[in-house]
Amino acid sequence: MKEPAREIAKLKRLIEEAEKIVAFTGAGVSTECGIPDFRSPGGLWTKYKPIEFSEFMSSAETRLEAWRRYFRLYDQVAGAKPGRSHRAIAQLVMNGKATHVITQNIDNLHQESGVPPEKIIELHGNGSFAKCLSCERRHEIQWARRVVEDSHQAPTCVACGGIVKTATISFGQPMPEHVMAEAHGAAEACDLFLAVGSSLKVFPAASLPVLAQRWGAVLVIINNEPTDFDEFADLVINWDAGDTLSRAVS
Ligand code: NAD
Repeated sequence: MKEPAREIAKLKRLIEEAEKIVAFTGAGVSTECGIPDFRSPGGLWTKYKPIEFSEFMSSAETRLEAWRRYFRLYDQVAGAKPGRSHRAIAQLVMNGKATHVITQNIDNLHQESGVPPEKIIELHGNGSFAKCLSCERRHEIQWARRVVEDSHQAPTCVACGGIVKTATISFGQPMPEHVMAEAHGAAEACDLFLAVGSSLKVFPAASLPVLAQRWGAVLVIINNEPTDFDEFADLVINWDAGDTLSRAVS
């Protein structure tokens, strides 16, 4: 594929002209950090059928399987460091260009790249810790691992005995309304919306780029393969996200 030098130059200009950028990220910003995405060949989707929230809630056996799967993934990605996309986006936040990072990722890498937590809207939660689904008490992943290894049972809350789950949103699990409302607010207020490294197939998150555009933002989609929303975007860059952003943000 030919390097999109002209498109990257155009993105650089759009970034220079913009005053309120929102970066919306998906699993593609973290693949260069060694975290597999969902749908690419060899991605998570092709290895495991996702466990639906209703299955997790209704079966202790499924909860145990979900935790074991999670630990395998955690071991695979523990120690991952932010990549070029994370660093470029952090730079946009630090220099006051970007108001928010809306992410579908659960890997905590935007935080690790230096973006203040209050600027990050995590649509699908955060996998670096766990929460009780009844009383919301935080539990650590290493604690859950010890419980699973010692008892061969899924962990329950130390305070109320409720079901403990990674602090992520599973398929079929309702997304907290305030999180989506915050994302809508950021998308509505921005003048440049960068959708980066997402197949734009998971809803309602995938509706945000076009909503932002309807609310007046210029929409740029950066992904190494086409998405169903490319035809609506003002600029599409089908290229590596890290390479694109590190060249466009300087
Ligand atoms: P996705 O896997 O559906 O899409 C990722 C897209 O990024 C794909 O189109 C892929 O071709 C592209 N891509 C991969 N590497 C790239 C690169 N270097 N440069 C440019 N594009 C690249 O992921 P999604 O849209 O984020 O949706 C999947 C769901 O899975 C999300 O809800 C997310 O929570 C979850 N997920 C998160 C992580 C993570 O936290 N890192 C990893 C896998 C899945």
